[in-house]
Amino acid sequence: MLSATRFRMILAIGVAMLAALVGYLLNQDVQVALVMLVGAVAAVLIVSIGGDPPPPPRSDAVASDRDPAFGEVIEAIAEPVLVIAATRVIAANAAARGLLGEHILGEDVRLAIRHPAAAERLLDPGEAHSAAPIHLVGLGTREQRWEMRVRTLETGERVVHLIDRTGSYTADRMRVDFVANASHELRTPLASLLGYVETLADGAGEEPEIRARFLKIMHDEARRMDRLISDLISLSRIEAEKYRAPAESVQLAELIPQVCAELSGSPRAADLVTEIEAVPPVRGDRTQLSQLLHNVIGNAMKYGKHGTPVTVSLRSEGATMVRFAVSDQGEGIPSEHIPRLTERFYRVDSGRSRSLGGTGLGLAIVKHVVERHRGRLDIASSVGIGTTVTVRLPIEPTVIKA
Ligand code: ADP
Repeated sequence: MLSATRFRMILAIGVAMLAALVGYLLNQDVQVALVMLVGAVAAVLIVSIGGDPPPPPRSDAVASDRDPAFGEVIEAIAEPVLVIAATRVIAANAAARGLLGEHILGEDVRLAIRHPAAAERLLDPGEAHSAAPIHLVGLGTREQRWEMRVRTLETGERVVHLIDRTGSYTADRMRVDFVANASHELRTPLASLLGYVETLADGAGEEPEIRARFLKIMHDEARRMDRLISDLISLSRIEAEKYRAPAESVQLAELIPQVCAELSGSPRAADLVTEIEAVPPVRGDRTQLSQLLHNVIGNAMKYGKHGTPVTVSLRSEGATMVRFAVSDQGEGIPSEHIPRLTERFYRVDSGRSRSLGGTGLGLAIVKHVVERHRGRLDIASSVGIGTTVTVRLPIEPTVIKA
């Protein structure tokens, strides 16, 4: 590409040559024309000897205009990165444009990142505290939490790096909620136990009938605490082993009848119907799979309608999976609750769950066991018709036919 100065110089030489030609035509004298030409070209060269004027300051250029490698570098970063000169965004990678909008290039940073804390930091000329990250809520979706880090380059431009902290924020919040929920769940039966102990100590225990009734309630509350603590321990064990692949060969076709036999003391044992086919073994953890079966079959017996069948089926699915399903004919679960059923302590009807001895941890345990076994959990339900919980588990690799 010709620069503007060079173009003007060539044009001036062209004009000088034209003037020399006209001079020659008027005077018919080659020497005069040559002198005119040399003089004019020399004048043009003297005028243009200063070269191109310096480029304008780049504060309003996008990074890729000024240095392609620079643009490429920030584009290679997965998290949002912006470069700011004075108050203007001069470069933004795809992640930043995706988060803040394509319009941010060249825009004032206060408009690009519409966040008071971010604007305050970015307009603060003091470098001293720019190392400390600041936390932003409200960029992207409402749930997202961002950490903004600002670094000033030697050239004075500032690199703004946005780091998505939503995951660790959610994990922290879940931990806090979990401790609060677990404490609440344990405190409720404990408060009841303490109340009855005090009442008995105050003399109510002298009446045999009252004492027997109170002792029964205390026993039930203590059992409830025991179940809760067992489930909490199971959950933490399963989570601790999350990344350790289970190593036993488990025959579900044998384990299911065993679990059904263990549930035979339940008032609904007569409603159990099993449809079990011979399937290849799965690579699993027998204790955890037994707990999974207990929880899923136990729920169908708890929440299904008395006198209606609870069907437990097992069959192969394709060449690599086995499919275990439990269907009941209960009240069903409204669809808005289904995605949340595997959260710890989530219940559709807390009163009903508690009166049936539920801890609210059964399906959370099921989910973790399925995940550790690289399986899949599906819950399908129709209100007024019933619920089917399906678990698919991979067949033990050594028995898969090529
Ligand atoms: P819980 O100990 O309360 O049964 P779970 O984690 O096993 O806890 O289940 C969570 C909630 O899911 C239950 O409180 C109940 O509201 C609902 N639920 C689970 N299984 C069924 C089912 N088969 N039919 C209807 N509701 C169910």
